[in-house]
Amino acid sequence: MHPIAQLDHDYVWHPFTQMSDWLKSEPIVLVRGKRTRLWDTANRVYLDANSSIWTNLHGHNHPVINQAIRKQLGRVAHTSALGLANEPASQLAEKLLSLTRFPNQTEPKDHHPLTKVFYSDNGSTAVEVALKMAYEFTRRVQGPMASPHFLSVSGAYHGDTIGAVSLGHIDLFHSAYRGLLFPTGAAMAPYCYRCPHNRADPERADARSYRKCQWECTQSVASAFDEGQRNKRPISAVVYEPLMQGSAGMIAQPVGWLRRVAEVAKEHRALLIADEVLTGFGRAGSMEDGSPTILASHLEGVKPDLVTLAKGLTGGYLPMAATLTTQPIFDAFLGDYSDFKTFFHGHSYTANQLGAASALASLEILATSHGPGVRNQLESDLRTALASLWDRSQVGDIRQVGGMVGIELVKDWRRRTPYDLREKAGIRVVQAMARRGVLTRPIGNVVVLIPPYCTTRREVNRMVAVLSDAIDEVLSSG
Ligand code: PMP
Repeated sequence: MHPIAQLDHDYVWHPFTQMSDWLKSEPIVLVRGKRTRLWDTANRVYLDANSSIWTNLHGHNHPVINQAIRKQLGRVAHTSALGLANEPASQLAEKLLSLTRFPNQTEPKDHHPLTKVFYSDNGSTAVEVALKMAYEFTRRVQGPMASPHFLSVSGAYHGDTIGAVSLGHIDLFHSAYRGLLFPTGAAMAPYCYRCPHNRADPERADARSYRKCQWECTQSVASAFDEGQRNKRPISAVVYEPLMQGSAGMIAQPVGWLRRVAEVAKEHRALLIADEVLTGFGRAGSMEDGSPTILASHLEGVKPDLVTLAKGLTGGYLPMAATLTTQPIFDAFLGDYSDFKTFFHGHSYTANQLGAASALASLEILATSHGPGVRNQLESDLRTALASLWDRSQVGDIRQVGGMVGIELVKDWRRRTPYDLREKAGIRVVQAMARRGVLTRPIGNVVVLIPPYCTTRREVNRMVAVLSDAIDEVLSSG
């Protein structure tokens, strides 16, 4: 075993990993990267097919981001945001807010644009911040006796801190911690492929395209609001991932789902909290007129009151997150010092200077070399390559939104029969892909492809061909 692999085995505990399995084989130790490629200690090369857990936008070792980080490092790496300001974080806040203005439209009268940025370190903390802001804002508007209640979507994953886990509805991850959590509502997910209301027989196409239903999923959101009113626990905020519910299993929403949910929420004066940790920065595609989309919510015309950004914020180079919010929410925390209305929350690395410099560089690349043209090409290359997978009887559904894809593996596509999780179908398939030089990670039986924007057509074809071969190797006998 390579000495670094040995150190890992001896001392490191990996996230979301059954360590007794991990310790059975030598891990891949990655030592360098360039664009879509990563190299290990034996100089084997891999394609990064999930953008290093959905973080990397423009490829590894990008000269513009490297240079921005180096330049910042030459000045100062980190200073505290508790009581002090800094240059790149201030500039980044302005830039983020200008880029997340709803494109090509004047703001309607009743809508408050995003005007403030609160920095933190990762997706979970960004969600935690949004939750606490929404909670306290609601109490300040409705009175201290109010008990704000949140609605999220079944299967939701919003991070691993306790507030974020409370919003989550993945029993496998969350049930162990039930005793630590506060209750939240779960609206039905628009999971067309396995929706009990979808009367369509399976076809060889994305289930959204042949569904037969009456939009029972959005009706369930309206029912949740009605129930909240009846039980005197009105819903104060809806937390959603726009267009693609990532860790829930890459659940792609049918067009119109989010718009409908937002309408119901707005009718009930509930806040909209968009968790754009995965979907932000163009992952979900571009506006029809090609204008840039930092927020996927805008693709459905939805203007959230709070937005969480992380993963791609720095281009995937440094851990940094942001929670964006509106003036009324910010104003609710203003007052004399002695009123103690301060937002009492903050992390040591908040507004990290290196992270902010990296984010500014990433946004610059997004506006130029990886603008909508390049991303549209990647999306269409993915769509074309993925069509070949319908030949595989173990492929039940292929869900693509922009540059994000989930391929759901099944025992029998005609009956949508799932693999038991204990069979580790997804895990074994991605292990077979890694042996062939393509890295990704499954969510249960769903194989995820979210390549960096610089991925070429040849590389896309290779990722899909390798997935196809891995399915043959691992699943063809069963
Ligand atoms: N929200 C969403 C939508 C996510 O996909 C994730 C991470 N997969 C998180 C929040 C949590 O982010 P982090 O892992 O950076 O804490």
